[in-house]
Amino acid sequence: MSVRVRYAPSPTGSPHVGNLRTAIYNWILARKEGGQFIARLEDTDRTPGRYLPEGIWEIEESLRYLGTVPDEWWVGGGSAGPYVQSERLESYKVHAEMLIESGHAYKCYCSRERLEAMRMDQQAKNMPTGYDRTCRDEAGRSRMYAQRLAELGHEPPYVVRLAMPLEGQTIVHDMVKGDIVYDNRTQDDQVLLKTDGFPTYFLACAVDDHLMGITHVIRGDDWLSSAAKFVAVINAFGWEAPKLAHPPLILGADRKKLSKRHGSTQFMDFVKEGYLPEALFNFLVLLGWSAGDENRELFSIGEIIERFSLQGISEHPAIFDYDKLKWINGQYIRQSPQGRIIGLCIPYLIKAGLISAEPTAEELEIARRVIPLEIERMKVLSEVADLTAYFFKDLDYPSGYEEKAVAKWFKVEHLKPMLLEEITLLSNLKDWEVEGIEKVIREIGDKLELKFSEVIHPTRVAVTGRTVGPGLFEAIWGLGRETTILRLQRVFDRV
Ligand code: GLU
Repeated sequence: MSVRVRYAPSPTGSPHVGNLRTAIYNWILARKEGGQFIARLEDTDRTPGRYLPEGIWEIEESLRYLGTVPDEWWVGGGSAGPYVQSERLESYKVHAEMLIESGHAYKCYCSRERLEAMRMDQQAKNMPTGYDRTCRDEAGRSRMYAQRLAELGHEPPYVVRLAMPLEGQTIVHDMVKGDIVYDNRTQDDQVLLKTDGFPTYFLACAVDDHLMGITHVIRGDDWLSSAAKFVAVINAFGWEAPKLAHPPLILGADRKKLSKRHGSTQFMDFVKEGYLPEALFNFLVLLGWSAGDENRELFSIGEIIERFSLQGISEHPAIFDYDKLKWINGQYIRQSPQGRIIGLCIPYLIKAGLISAEPTAEELEIARRVIPLEIERMKVLSEVADLTAYFFKDLDYPSGYEEKAVAKWFKVEHLKPMLLEEITLLSNLKDWEVEGIEKVIREIGDKLELKFSEVIHPTRVAVTGRTVGPGLFEAIWGLGRETTILRLQRVFDRV
């Protein structure tokens, strides 16, 4: 049987990086096994704040960005659709009825108030909370029905509950954590269908996984605690459960569940910040899965697919190391063709107002010249604006200059004679090329009997306003003759 895996997000907002990691694992398994990767939108929870349709677009964008585009999903479809649960309500109803018919589920007429009172009573007595199964047998159900009918004066609403086996065990075979055995007596009679006709997660998911032919379910660790109920529903239908795998939780550096306190957690924030898809893919895959080579951080997608196995997923929590992600991204930036990086950087320059929204040929020419000079230092693409600002914007003295740099390097005695020489020689330099610029600067050092560093540092500060940046000669070349002379002259005049 061909492997069919699914990613089943709920549109509760902008997707979390952990959800995308789940999507990636599923996608990889499908690619490895020559199977299908399916995405299904689980949108049946309409509790206020739990249904945010605008999140759907971000889910789609995230999958596209990573290149983990589903083979079948709500965009474009497939044979087992529709892939949106709110469009499959009829099917859940039919399946709930099948379970009632076979004695594995029952209608429950208990009112919200009764359930609430029952819960408070259980809590007061320090008992585990759960449904008292009044409606599970015919007599109780008839009694409750009659009571509600009299109260309401019309046909009472009902939920459908799973008739959880009262003894025995439910075993969750998890490929990461091993077998987890649940005593059925500790499990509640879970609601499967709500009064509004919407299914709960347990029914919808079990039915869909079955109808969609899902063979493996890889999903976040937070679903493990309810996996027994999920398996119990599948068992009630008499279906074979898909193979389950729950990758470990993702934690922050303090070993607490990853949250906003640690930094960005929404996938699209990383996209906006300028993380490349292959870097995010590489980093997220290694969060909880080992490629079997601890000394290596960078793996191509092909290598990952080749090495991937569910057995390689760790059962221990994974730490989300922001610095490592940055480092990986920097590596991929440097491995990329320059043209790609330049193209990806343009929107950041526009956003920072360094070039116009519809860049002129001249602005693009500067971008093409100077972005490659900063690629060595770039860890995320959004840094390009700060790294290259001085190439695009006029640098006013002293406001545009680093105070410390000025304090250190503009006090030197040789500053003015050196600037004068530079202005003269660079103005007369025939070809504006890096080698020629270097030759001139070195000659000035020799002539004024200065150490190389005594020339380089103040000159760099004079033309860029800062102490770090690309090689000085490249930076001067990137600035162009006119801007360089202007800046040298301005410092000469004002210092
Ligand atoms: N809809 C669930 C979620 O939002 C997915 C549950 C599952 O994958 O079984 O995470």
